[in-house]
Formats: sequence, structure tokens, C-alpha cells
Amino acid sequence: MRFLLDSMLGRLTTWLRVTGYDSYYQSRYKSGEIDRLVNEGRCLLTRNKELSSIYRDAIWIFNEHTKDQLHELKEKLQLEFDPSAWFTRCLRCNTVLKKAPPEKFIGNVPDYICHQHSTCISYCPSCGRFFWPGTHRKNMITQLKTWGIV
Ligand SMILES: [Zn+2]
Repeated sequence: MRFLLDSMLGRLTTWLRVTGYDSYYQSRYKSGEIDRLVNEGRCLLTRNKELSSIYRDAIWIFNEHTKDQLHELKEKLQLEFDPSAWFTRCLRCNTVLKKAPPEKFIGNVPDYICHQHSTCISYCPSCGRFFWPGTHRKNMITQLKTWGIV
């Protein structure tokens, strides 16, 4: 499932990317851009009821808080949050991450991370960011569990 989120859904975008879902987001859309992205097969998620009525498969997101929005998606789309897909996508730009070889991450990632996580450092081929299983990731997993998503 590939999503397109309206400018009100920045936080939800991050959490969908965390859980591996292809989620296109911009804080502003030019005229005609949503049309184009929906035509490319993306499912529009929007807080705007009127906008959701324009597109056949769009989902109107009723809830205001991220936790409730995730539950709402689970219910409306039978969305599953499979842990094997988590942290496979760049949180900033939505690109699928690649495993980083040592020649790529040495010098770009703190030394202690290189030692601890040398086999599980990944990078974004689009924006160049590096990712590894650190505290931030643990906190996100805890958050998902607290919210009852998994
Ligand atoms: Zn990126």
C-alpha cells in the first residue's frame, strides 16, 4: 500500500515510514500535484473531509492524535504493522534504505556506533542519512507498544 498524506499529517507520515509504509508527504502541495500522485496509485490520507470525497479511494482521517490515527488506519484498511518491515525506510525522505558497507559509514557515523553495530548500519541512497539500531529506535518501538499498535 502506497500512501499520500496531506499537509496536516506530518507526524502520521513519520510513523508510517517507521513501520515501513511508502508514505509521500509535503508540507505544501502545488495545484494538480495531489491529482497526479493519486493517479500514480497512491492512497490519499487526509484530515479534510471535503478533499477525501473527491477521490474514490481516499481515506478521511477523523482522529486528531497520531496514536488514534494509527488505530483508525488499522481498522479502516486492515493495515498490519509487521515488525520485519520496520526501519527499512528513510524517515526524512521515504526512500528504501540500503545496507551500508564499512567504506561507506566509517567517518560518517560515530566510532562507537561503527564498533557496536557494524553489521546493521543502513543508509539512505537519496539523502545520505545513516541509520542504526540505537536508543531512538528502541524508544520508537516502546512507543508503538504503548500505543497498542503491536
Ligand atoms: Zn533519505
